[in-house]
Amino acid sequence: MISLVPSHGPAPSDSFPRDRTRKVVIIGAGPGGLAAALLLARGGVQVHVVERLPHVGGRCSALERDGYRFDLGPTFFLYPRVLERIFKLVGRDLHREVPMVRLDPQYRIAFGAGGQLDCTPDVARLEAEIAKLNPADAANVRRFLDDNRGKLEAFRPCLESPFLGWRSLLSWDLIKLLPILRPWKSLNCELGRYFTDERVRLAFSFQSKYLGMSPFNCPSLFSILSFLEYEYGVWHPIGGCAAVSEAMARVAREIGVTFSLGEEVTELLFDRRRAVGVKTTCGEHRGDALVINADFAHAMTRLVPDHLRRRWTDKKIEKKKFSCSTFMMYLGLEGRQDHVPHHTIHCAADYEGNLADIENRHVLSADPSFYVQNATVTDDTLAPRGHSTLYVLAPVTHRHPNVDWAKQTPAFRACVLNQLKKIGIEGVEKRIRFEKVVTPADWENHYAVHRGATFNLAHNWTQMLHFRPRNRFEDLDGVYLVGGGTHPGSGLPVIYESARITSRLLLDDLGRDAEWLGKPGATEVPSSAPVS
Ligand SMILES: Cc1cc2nc3c(=O)[nH]c(=O)nc-3n(C[C@H](O)[C@H](O)[C@H](O)COP(=O)(O)OP(=O)(O)OC[C@H]3O[C@@H](n4cnc5c(N)ncnc54)[C@H](O)[C@@H]3O)c2cc1C
Repeated sequence: MISLVPSHGPAPSDSFPRDRTRKVVIIGAGPGGLAAALLLARGGVQVHVVERLPHVGGRCSALERDGYRFDLGPTFFLYPRVLERIFKLVGRDLHREVPMVRLDPQYRIAFGAGGQLDCTPDVARLEAEIAKLNPADAANVRRFLDDNRGKLEAFRPCLESPFLGWRSLLSWDLIKLLPILRPWKSLNCELGRYFTDERVRLAFSFQSKYLGMSPFNCPSLFSILSFLEYEYGVWHPIGGCAAVSEAMARVAREIGVTFSLGEEVTELLFDRRRAVGVKTTCGEHRGDALVINADFAHAMTRLVPDHLRRRWTDKKIEKKKFSCSTFMMYLGLEGRQDHVPHHTIHCAADYEGNLADIENRHVLSADPSFYVQNATVTDDTLAPRGHSTLYVLAPVTHRHPNVDWAKQTPAFRACVLNQLKKIGIEGVEKRIRFEKVVTPADWENHYAVHRGATFNLAHNWTQMLHFRPRNRFEDLDGVYLVGGGTHPGSGLPVIYESARITSRLLLDDLGRDAEWLGKPGATEVPSSAPVS
């Protein structure tokens, strides 16, 4: 069952501050760059976005061919509140710009070890589903959701604040959270407080894969991810998540942001330590400040000379822990598979072994876990009539010498296609009318993602908050970061939030009013920006 969200009329957009004497250059038109462009333009500065690809959206863009349309990356649109707030701040209504449907069931989880679960946000039905696997665990679902509601509320101010120094890390507010966050525990361990059945624990912990991490290593904090899905919904924007990026760029243009697409930044320009502009494949763009949305490790190691960086040197970056990567297949098919839900996650029979292959052994599994999006069951704009699209994702190791994608791609492709039978999709090969494969090597070479680590730096505690590259980048003057490589982290809602945190800092530094962006942790959605 799906529900369409009603749309509301946009606020007038001619009330923006007009004195645009200051200019900001944004490197990259991914979700973080686009969100920052909207907010900075709203804050009254001139904004120019330089993007190396010929289109906007970055990893959250569309692949379109022969009437088929796929999301390249994100397919789960979660916690729309953050972007709703950003659209509201620029006088628009997100749901009017991009109609969305809330999915029910949100997804199916098929367990290689036996059994399946249709995960619905209707808690009574969810309990009944879980009871089929384990009646005792069903009784604990509400306690899990209630506890995580409190946890999210307690941690939200941290997600919305910049972490600019040790003092913010040692603040009393954060210390008070330790008994709730239990940073010494893994996500899997935390779920053991509620659920005994390994499959039920998996149903509430596989979301750590959104961060590119295993639930056995991922901090217990991230139990809030599955809570977010049940409380606020798993959404499908019509046209896919890429339609959201396209709408952001459309609105950005309407409020005065300019774009150079298909133009790569090759170097940052400095006056001593202060960044003053960028050199590109087509020329130069000067600005009072730079915002980097490009993949953090990729951009730093290529665009900024090592000697200018104190903390994030090449050597230090190489020692960091990076997320997993993904092997992707985008298939345009003749015929449909309407018996398969919109989202299906298949967990390998030896789930832990598969994770160890990805994170520790850095080899390809013979029986990999995988995820399939069969979006045409919800959205018939994505394929010609009588046809469908399948988006297949298998989490794999980031680039590592153990795997030579030039040699191993054909066999792994065959393996993944064969896996589809496990979720009831048969005879795919003879129905393929369009196919594109993206390997970790492609993520690195074509999409400029360091080591092909699609979810950026890993999210262990030693790489979060103060330890992650900061929103006001600590190594260079006049440089700011947005996107999955900075605080709060990877995943669309927090990436959009990074843009709000960064814009607040940048506008403050330029002496502009930033109060209208709202305070960290505030519950109310601020109204649109004041006229200057
Ligand atoms: C396969 C996959 C599935 C995902 N699924 C989900 C999901 O379901 N839900 C979710 O919330 N998140 C998901 N994510 C994670 C995350 O939301 C996306 O990766 C998101 O697009 C990252 O946004 P970003 O702003 O950090 O950067 P990007 O999207 O990577 O954008 C950075 C931009 O910078 C550009 N750039 C790089 N170098 C230069 C240069 N030198 N000059 C000019 N431009 C440059 C790039 O071309 C790119 O357009 C997924 C990611 C992947 C890869």
